[in-house]
Amino acid sequence: MEGKTQVAVVGGGLVGSLFASYLAHHDVNVDLFDLRPDSRLQEHVKGRSINLALSFRGLKALKITGSENILEEIKGIPMRGRMIHNNDGSKNIILYDPVHGQCIYSVGRKRLNDFLLTAAEKHDKVNLHFNHKLRSINIHSGELEFSRTADGDILKTKADVIIGADGAFSTVRKEFLKQPMFNYSQHYIEHAYIELHISSGSDGQFLMDPNYLHIWPRRTFMMIALPNCDASWTVTLFMPVNEFAKLESPDKLMKFFETYFFDAIDLIGKEKLIMDFFASKPSPLISVKCNPYHSGGKVVMIGDAAHAIVPFYGQGMNAGLEDCFILDELLRITDFNTEQAFLQFSKLRCLDGEAVCDLAMYNYVEMRDLVSRRSFIWRKHMDDL
Ligand code: FAD
Repeated sequence: MEGKTQVAVVGGGLVGSLFASYLAHHDVNVDLFDLRPDSRLQEHVKGRSINLALSFRGLKALKITGSENILEEIKGIPMRGRMIHNNDGSKNIILYDPVHGQCIYSVGRKRLNDFLLTAAEKHDKVNLHFNHKLRSINIHSGELEFSRTADGDILKTKADVIIGADGAFSTVRKEFLKQPMFNYSQHYIEHAYIELHISSGSDGQFLMDPNYLHIWPRRTFMMIALPNCDASWTVTLFMPVNEFAKLESPDKLMKFFETYFFDAIDLIGKEKLIMDFFASKPSPLISVKCNPYHSGGKVVMIGDAAHAIVPFYGQGMNAGLEDCFILDELLRITDFNTEQAFLQFSKLRCLDGEAVCDLAMYNYVEMRDLVSRRSFIWRKHMDDL
């Protein structure tokens, strides 16, 4: 170990686990810490969105894993466009790329995270430490303190370089807040989400066409569905928090679905709809902007720790995976001079981070409202001509 840079990655989510693979190619020793247990040993992992849309940006960044066919391994399902479910029961398609046929892919969060952890672990220099919750960090000295969630013990360690990939509620970022010239804003939108589920049909097949992202746009709220590789669907209802609060009984919920999503009732199943809806509370949605992303050559934040965005553009993970690709390029160009590379990273990515936060906010209006307006349907007719 001596003589080699010791890098600590805090957070083994989608972004931290991918960046560990990138770091392994720099001939440094990498310790990755995550507060959760190893998801590969669990059947289900509780938490945010079950599946996500993976786009070209993310896919390009994943190539470092060395997998010959990533999409096959992570069982990505191509989604070629949006399938709009109108209020009268009719449907229309808006292709993402009618000319070249480019598409996005629906992937399971757990499957992708497991794949990335395994890819990182293949490198001798990468060590994974689960059940380690970062409690404090000194961004000048590189000292870190973790509590071990399994036995409550404390681990104190020190790293030459720290990568903060600990998500939207980053503990690493909290320490940045104490620094002069660090700008930060967070915004909870008035809308929240709840996840529902459509099972596969009795023949084990999809109950809707799986090659589309299905949207039920209802102007001030919307529901979407992304396919899973077991032929089921993850359905997400986004709505203002005060509207969720009105659906306080099964009767009110059913009336609401009969009015706005009647074609989804049979797909989800009445009993399952009621059970899933009341099983959890609506989850809030936060948007975070900050600048810079780094502190000297010691610490840098990537992924949601640096730029958490609302999910409507389907780019939060993709932007985080792209962070890994770009930061790696900068480390290569500077011959692992972290002082220079991190500075350039902030210069490049803080603007991108702000832009993607704003685009994601705008895209909610497009998805829940504009997609159902005439100009979009006309465009589809034009495409058909
Ligand atoms: P996370 O995935 O949050 O991982 C952070 C990791 O850090 C976790 O493993 C956590 O356990 C660990 N951690 C946290 N605190 C500590 C601590 N103190 N000590 C140690 N470890 C810690 N993005 C897309 O690109 N496409 C989509 O379709 C999409 N859909 C979404 C749908 C919803 C409903 C939501 C909420 C988000 C969606 N996103 C989507 C965004 C995407 O989920 C995030 O951008 C992505 O998960 C960010 O990855 P990350 O690794 O930076 O953070």
